[in-house]
Amino acid sequence: MAITTLVSAVSRRLEGKVALITGGASGIGQKTAQVFAHHGAKLVIADIQDELGHSVCQSIASGAAGNDATYVHCDVTDESHVKAAVEKAIKSYGKLDIMFNNAGIGDPKKSRIIDNEKGDFERVLRVNVTGVFLGIKHASQAMISAKGGSGGSIISTASVASCMGGLVSHAYTCSKHAVLGLTRNAAVELGQFGIRVNCVSPYGLATPISQIFHGLSVEELEGLYGSMANLKNVTFKEDDIANAALFLASEEGRYVSGHNLVVDGGFTIANSSFP
Ligand code: NAD
Repeated sequence: MAITTLVSAVSRRLEGKVALITGGASGIGQKTAQVFAHHGAKLVIADIQDELGHSVCQSIASGAAGNDATYVHCDVTDESHVKAAVEKAIKSYGKLDIMFNNAGIGDPKKSRIIDNEKGDFERVLRVNVTGVFLGIKHASQAMISAKGGSGGSIISTASVASCMGGLVSHAYTCSKHAVLGLTRNAAVELGQFGIRVNCVSPYGLATPISQIFHGLSVEELEGLYGSMANLKNVTFKEDDIANAALFLASEEGRYVSGHNLVVDGGFTIANSSFP
């Protein structure tokens, strides 16, 4: 293989692929959109923050890679929106190869179960669980019915709260455990079509969702997460999740399915810090 072809294969790991990213206007979704575009993917960015979403698309289109990126208003709790977002990918770029169900919300705080309101609990589940369910449903339908049925990769954003209790609110913990359950169930069912289904589980990042969770500023959050982190002298960034998603989306992850890729610097395996 010529050196230029080799370099291109390494640096453009999603060349020719089409990806849909929910919650792509901010935080992890925005960074993942940039990384996927850098690796050659055409993108549909779906969110409810329209202005931010459009500006992410513009910055991708005007970036060095000059990639195609389209924004679509999509509330992931509304089935017609999710269906329309998938259709937008097919209409704009002819297919859907990668679905990243990343949109999510948190609770203002971790309250006792007896103080939890049913409506607040259900609100979190609607976005974090129903939203992921709808994303898997409509993306897999499009992937199965695509010409040649060439498979696909579905990735959802869970959390370290998908495998631990007591970190955050009941609703959020429950919702992220459910993302893992959906991932495993769908992976079993969709393997026959060559569709891989995985999730990524981030440790804490000072994105808007975390500011709402803890009621802290970005600086305070970075201090908090840094002090609780197991892996010291390494700063956890949105890029770490974007690169994990890239692995699961790309050919390198072709035999990985039903997996929860925990990206937490060892947080969930440590129940105490060494002195
Ligand atoms: P963020 O607040 O920066 O991004 C969340 C995005 O989801 C926003 O753009 C928001 O507009 C969008 N969104 C919210 N509700 C939506 C809806 N109904 N329909 C469509 N879009 C909607 O936060 P983030 O940290 O980038 O969060 C991304 C994902 O990562 C979430 O699923 C979150 O639960 C998960 N996560 C975050 C952390 C963290 O510490 N930041 C840790 C673990 C998991």
